[in-house]
Amino acid sequence: MKTRFAPSPTGKLHIGNARTALITWLATRHAGGEFLLRIDDTDRERSKDEYTDAIKRDLTWLGLNWDNLAHQRDRQALYDEKIAALKESGRLYPCYETPEQLELKRKTLLNKGQPPIYDRAALDLTQGEREKLEEEGLSPHWRFKLEHAEITWDDKVRGPVRFHGKDLSDPVVLREDGSPLYHLCSVIDDIDFGITDVVRGEDHVSNTATHIQMFEALGGPVPAFAHLPLLSDAQGGKLSKRIGSLSIEAIREEEGLEAMSVNALLARLGTSEPIEAFAELDPLIASFDFAKFSRGTPKADPDELYRLNAKLIHDMPFDDVKDRLSEQFKGQIDRNYWRAIRANIARVEDVEQWLSITHNNIQPIIAEEDVEYISMAALTLPEGNFTTESWGIWIAAIKEKTDRKGKALFMPLRQALTGMDHGPEMDKILPLIGRERVLQRLSL
Ligand code: GLU
Repeated sequence: MKTRFAPSPTGKLHIGNARTALITWLATRHAGGEFLLRIDDTDRERSKDEYTDAIKRDLTWLGLNWDNLAHQRDRQALYDEKIAALKESGRLYPCYETPEQLELKRKTLLNKGQPPIYDRAALDLTQGEREKLEEEGLSPHWRFKLEHAEITWDDKVRGPVRFHGKDLSDPVVLREDGSPLYHLCSVIDDIDFGITDVVRGEDHVSNTATHIQMFEALGGPVPAFAHLPLLSDAQGGKLSKRIGSLSIEAIREEEGLEAMSVNALLARLGTSEPIEAFAELDPLIASFDFAKFSRGTPKADPDELYRLNAKLIHDMPFDDVKDRLSEQFKGQIDRNYWRAIRANIARVEDVEQWLSITHNNIQPIIAEEDVEYISMAALTLPEGNFTTESWGIWIAAIKEKTDRKGKALFMPLRQALTGMDHGPEMDKILPLIGRERVLQRLSL
């Protein structure tokens, strides 16, 4: 299997593109194949190196490595050669309509209740008429002439798909300035790189019908296709701004989530298998199968990402986090500290919040009416170093000396010791704060 992920570097990688990348990558690794990262930068104006860099950074973070890298902008000589051959064989033809004229044709057809298919008027131009138009200063764009025949393929996700050439507009493949558009470059590259499987979003389904004829016209083998349903938001609408605007970069840098939360969600979304908090890609590779994907539109719920993230954190070994804390906190955390804290946090960086509670100067909350109670509690602290037993021992000892029960018993202690009224269980947090700081915080 040879595949490619072919992003256009005109923006950041979003959840939807990342899903295409991940599914393509999982399929390829499952088959022991080769994964090409192809940067579709034929649009010189909108393509930016900074986006290419960001896409690579995001893929690397997700753990999706590539075996080869290609930029379409480096491949013009090959495109020129293939374009010349297609012009020669009459499969490309020049058109002179302006965007306004095309728009008018479209509207007229739509008003008549007909599909807006290009009428091929340019095919009727005589040599003389073409020359005249060019003398008037018009440069042609070029279309690929579709055969009016059935186009069918067996899609790995959608099953049998059927189109007819007469129901499709001849796609524009060269701009007025002679630069080639995505369609033709993509097909030329897929043939040249020996791509066996094209995986992409279902927004490309009708493109695929035209591409299949291009593959044939260029004499290349037609690859297999898998079109993934596009994601929708939790409400079932098209991927909304909200989740759609979640770039992979923001998920990493602003939300502070784990790459595997993203992978775990995206790998199983819209499949017959449950979404689980996988900590590694290997089991996702092993269980990958296009047959498990359904055609329905999967709902992507951002909250699910946070749930998966919390689960991953709860089992995460200390070695995976110890180098990820900021300078200020690095030396402050050890294995035991991490074990005690991880069940209570949803993101790695949250550990810093807890460190600042246990190790920094917090503002103890001690209500007027609890002053005496807190003093008594301070005198009742168990001897020696605190362990996870100490809290229970302490509370039992306090109970002997007071009528307080339940919340009235422990909440003033939590507030005095953490400056907050919620957080990790006190038996865990007490040894983390340590005797010295506990005494400090309880002293009025
Ligand atoms: N650059 C195209 C896109 O991002 C690639 C589509 C394809 O996979 O062929 O939509």
